[in-house]
Amino acid sequence: MDCLFCKIIAKEISANIAYENDAVLAFHDISPKAPTHLLFIPKKHIARLDDIEEVSVMSELYAAIIDFANQNEYRKAGFQTKIHVGEGGGQEVFHLHIHFLSQKKL
Ligand code: AMP
Repeated sequence: MDCLFCKIIAKEISANIAYENDAVLAFHDISPKAPTHLLFIPKKHIARLDDIEEVSVMSELYAAIIDFANQNEYRKAGFQTKIHVGEGGGQEVFHLHIHFLSQKKL
């Protein structure tokens, strides 16, 4: 499958990894829009949010985000999460991902 983020998961393409567990990988966005800009992705390939068959995928992604944020003390600075869905929704890479943005640098 010709998927950029699957290649990052397979370590065929390098990325600056910030968080990883069995189900989720997070790495720095190559074109950051904030002092911290990460992408949280499921290790299982799902092209877009509305392709999800088991909503537990979203629990795993948000559990990872909360774990990452608490471990790295983002509570005071706060952060935003954002999902682009489909070309009309601004999605450019068709492997589900949640943008994590904060004014606090990691
Ligand atoms: P989206 O518009 O929601 O599909 O976001 C895709 C994001 O992937 C953009 O913010 C890109 O800057 C980012 N991106 C594209 N290629 C890479 C890469 N090789 N490593 C890290 N981030 C990437």
